[in-house]
Formats: sequence, structure tokens, C-alpha cells
Amino acid sequence: MKVVVLAGGVGGSRFLRGVRARLRQELPDGSGGTTAQLTAVVNTGDDLWLAGLRITPDLDTILYTLAGINDTDRGWGRVGDTERVSAELAEWGVGHPWFTLGDLDLAASIARTAWLREGIPLHEVATRLQARWPLGLRLLPATDDEVETHVVVDDPDHPGRRRELHFQEWWTRYRASLAARAFVQDCVDAAAPAPGVLEALADADVVLLAPSNPVVSIGTILGIPGLRDAVRATAAPVVGISPIIGGAVVRGMADACLTAIGVSTDAAAVARHYGRRSDDAVPGGGLLDGWLVDEVDAAGADALTRDGIRTRAVPLWLRDEASSAAVAAAALDLAAELARR
Ligand code: GDP
Ligand code: CA
Repeated sequence: MKVVVLAGGVGGSRFLRGVRARLRQELPDGSGGTTAQLTAVVNTGDDLWLAGLRITPDLDTILYTLAGINDTDRGWGRVGDTERVSAELAEWGVGHPWFTLGDLDLAASIARTAWLREGIPLHEVATRLQARWPLGLRLLPATDDEVETHVVVDDPDHPGRRRELHFQEWWTRYRASLAARAFVQDCVDAAAPAPGVLEALADADVVLLAPSNPVVSIGTILGIPGLRDAVRATAAPVVGISPIIGGAVVRGMADACLTAIGVSTDAAAVARHYGRRSDDAVPGGGLLDGWLVDEVDAAGADALTRDGIRTRAVPLWLRDEASSAAVAAAALDLAAELARR
């Protein structure tokens, strides 16, 4: 079975760990090698240039988490990492005081930037970085092109004026506290899906939308020209997993992103935002055949199912690999049911 998951960083990596575990359980030979089965199409809108280096936060979060070398306490970077280089850069005023990276993390970014400077495209760079660990899945950036997410805010320094900042500055420096007026994908018109992305979607048996930020992770992936249409056109069932449980984001500040685009922080509202696949009234066209909500949101499931998005309520807390594998199993079961229709 070929599974494609659209994913952001933390929610994406927690979910992917479960999908990988679930696919391994299903492999009769227990070989554990699922690279041919599982492809993650990863958000690159958070990427940025920093001190001359190309930083790709969501790709790295998934890489480290699936390799089992992520720092679970801090929630980002590599376990046991130090920050000597960042501290040294700060002395020279290079980089941003609000964006620290560990030394090993910076080494990965140096390798990445060196390859990019040689003209190697990002998807190939991602292949080289992941070759070091047996991840059991293929990580593909949504695009090789530099399409960075910018946020339009009311300028804190000039009342009455607006300003555009990089998503990373809005998220990390301001902790999403400046009200977002709009999200912009800089240079998106000239961008294309990375090689392999459209092929993976066309060839998939199941397409899953991870419980990632619907606006700046999944929304950004879908904004790459051709990508949304490829999800809509695949013969595979498309099932999404709600990142919202009981009207709250489990972690982070995705509610600020949803509010900015006029979607309430509610599992059913996010499903309707993605839209039923055959629904052309949704901007760009709807995507979903199926949707998973948490048990606390079960009350809204029937109405969604009646409206053409078959919805199941199951526990959606991704606490560890086992709970995450159970969510993946529920998503794959729902997909199998949809495929039999
Ligand atoms: P980011 O790129 O690091 O912001 O991560 P993602 O975009 O992949 O995912 C962020 C979202 O994951 C958050 O908005 C949370 O709502 C969601 N999330 C995190 N942990 C869980 C969990 O245990 N269960 C569910 N359903 N969603 C989660
Ligand atoms: Ca991210």
C-alpha cells in the first residue's frame, strides 16, 4: 500500500511516526523497510535564509523525529545539542536574536547550503540528508523553489500602517501576538511541486492530511501551483486528521492562523475549510473524502458525514508511538472503507 501524507513539522512528525509504525505492523515479513510505501510531502513555507544558511524547519523536525534524535524536551532541534555557534554569531550580531539553532542543527544547514550552492535541488538535498538514518519513509519537500510564507500585520512601530514579515519572525519572535491580516506565499506563482510529488499523489493508494497547521503547513503545501489539483485528482481516498481537539489547538498557536483566515478553531470548521472533494464552492476546490475528529468532537461527526465528508470520532492525542499508530490505523481503515464505495 502506498501512502502519501501532507505534513508540517511537529504535528506532521508525530503523526508520521504513527503511520510508519502502523505500516510496519502490517508488513507480513516484518522487514521494517517502508520507504517505498510511505512518502511525506513536507511544508517548506517556514524555510528561511539565516547567516547565509538555508534553514528548513519542518523537513528537519520530521527528519530528527523519525530518526529518533530529536529533542523532545525543547520541542525542536537535536537531542543533546549545544549552542556554541549561535552564541558566537550573536556576539557579532549575525542572525536573529529570536532564532537560535543548535550546533548539530547548524551543521545540517551547512551541508544543505553547500549542496544547494552546487546547484543540487532541495528534494535531492533532502534525500542526501535522510540517507544517513533509516527513516522508513521518503521525505519530499513540497517544492524545490523558495516560496516563503509572509504574514501581513498591523505595523507595531507605525500605527495605521501594515507590514509584511517572514512567518518565522511572526511565529518565533512575536509568538503570533501581532494580529495577522493575511498570509502571503512569496514568489509562489513561479513555483512548481518538487519532482516526485505529483507522481506520488497520482500513484497513491491513500492520501492523508496530517493534523498539521491547516493554514501555514497544509495550506502552504496546497498553495504550490498544481498541488491542490493533484490531491483532488488522485484516485486514492483523501482522509484528514483534525489538529483541533475540543475547540483548542493541542499545542502551538494555530488558532491565530485560523482566526486570520476566518475559520473558527473547531474540528468541523477545519473540515469544512478543506471541503468535500467534489465541492467546487470551496476556493480552489474541496479535498476531503474522510475526516477524523477526536471523541470529544463526536457530536459534529454526523452532520459532516451527511454533507459528504465521512467522519469518525477516535482519540486523536498523539502522545507516543502507540497512540499515534492507533490514529494512523483509524485513518487507514476509514480510507479502506471509502475506497470500497
Ligand atoms: P509545526 O510546523 O511545527 O507548526 O507543526 P505542524 O503544522 O505539523 O502541526 C502543528 C499542529 O499540530 C498544531 O496546530 C496542533 O494542533 C497539532 N497537534 C500537535 N500535537 C497533536 C496531537 O497530539 N493531536 C492532534 N490531533 N493534533 C496535534
Ligand atoms: Ca512549521
